[in-house]
Amino acid sequence: MDHFELIDGVMHAEGVSLETIAEQVGTPVYVYSTATIERHAQVFREALAATGDPLIAFAVKANPNRAVLATLAKQGYGADVVSAGELMRARAAGIPADRIVFSGVGKTADEMRLALEEGIFQFNVESEPEAEMLSAVAVEMGKIAPIAFRINPDVIAGTHAKISTGGKENKFGVAYDRAVQAYALAAALPGLRVQGIAVHIGSQLTNLDPLRAAFEKIGALMAELRAAGHVLATADLGGGLGVPYDPAEPLPPSPAAYGQMVAKATKGWNVRLMFEPGRLIVANAGVLLSRVIRIKQGAANDFVIVDAAMNDLMRPSLYDAWHDIRAVRPRGDTMSSTVVGPVCETGDTFATNRVTPDFEADDLMVFATAGAYGATMASTYNSRALTPEVLVKGDKWSVVRARQPLETLIAGDNVPDWL
Ligand SMILES: *Cc1c(COP(=O)(O)O)cnc(C)c1O
Repeated sequence: MDHFELIDGVMHAEGVSLETIAEQVGTPVYVYSTATIERHAQVFREALAATGDPLIAFAVKANPNRAVLATLAKQGYGADVVSAGELMRARAAGIPADRIVFSGVGKTADEMRLALEEGIFQFNVESEPEAEMLSAVAVEMGKIAPIAFRINPDVIAGTHAKISTGGKENKFGVAYDRAVQAYALAAALPGLRVQGIAVHIGSQLTNLDPLRAAFEKIGALMAELRAAGHVLATADLGGGLGVPYDPAEPLPPSPAAYGQMVAKATKGWNVRLMFEPGRLIVANAGVLLSRVIRIKQGAANDFVIVDAAMNDLMRPSLYDAWHDIRAVRPRGDTMSSTVVGPVCETGDTFATNRVTPDFEADDLMVFATAGAYGATMASTYNSRALTPEVLVKGDKWSVVRARQPLETLIAGDNVPDWL
């Protein structure tokens, strides 16, 4: 459920008309709804209430805007970070270090140093060489790094190949068969304290079976590791629960169904559970607001050319992703259209031969469910400015990232004087 609805025939984000935002900020622009973010954060927490008091660490990569992170910090959420930049953003947004988890296969010594300096809750270590490097960095600083190994459970997540992470051919985690050896190594390293285990098998999962299978494998491994003398106090079950994009598709499992499955699968584990939801919390809380530049006649049907492009919202070109297309002031008619941006790539296509509301030049439209993996993946390809972002709360709204002037974009280059 979200808070983007028609009021007197015009789409609003909570109490604010998207026409007002388009007029004052220009388009394209991302618009986020605070009430939707808060609701999702609460629903997810309630769904997990039966599992005790889990640490819920928002996957910052889904939407790293500091205003969004601050909204989640107020909900008691922590952060799952994958770079020094994300760690700094989370801290700057008021997320305490003891609610931060650091994931990722390529943590550098500098990033490890920063995280140790901050005193984060847990490093999710993804290989034995990483464990050795982290131990060396910690020893050098006179610190002990709290770690979990991220285990690759070798299950097929059943999602798009580019967001599948839990198969043995993927780069993520320590292979299931090597886990016992990896823990033995970590226990012998002077700079590490083993505190848990972690797993994350992919994103936009629309079926609970692969998650259940992964958790069962993790449970069996925990018993084996404990028998070998390791103390496991945390189990991080990752993120990945899918959200509805295409209204014609079946609904993904609800947070409540996920919570029940988790409670059952983790019964008797005797750990503090951790979760890393990203998409589930913010996807439906954001739209990309865009204006139709012109309609161009095509061979099959009309091209609706809009001022947003693949550099603003990459998901359709990267993952063949589907975003619902809605009119801000619908007239009630429909048309068959191919919706494209101005970028010089055929991949700059948001929808092909789709029945959409009837659009004319100058109309406003939104791409729905764009709050996750939207602005965060934006680039300046074709020398287009980074997309600005707006956060709405009730009838209040603010620009939470300003549109970058093109002059700034160009001034970022340096032309050497020897040229
Ligand atoms: C991306 C990612 C997440 C979040 O995934 P969602 O599908 O957005 O919930 C969680 N944990 C890790 C390690 C990730 O890489």
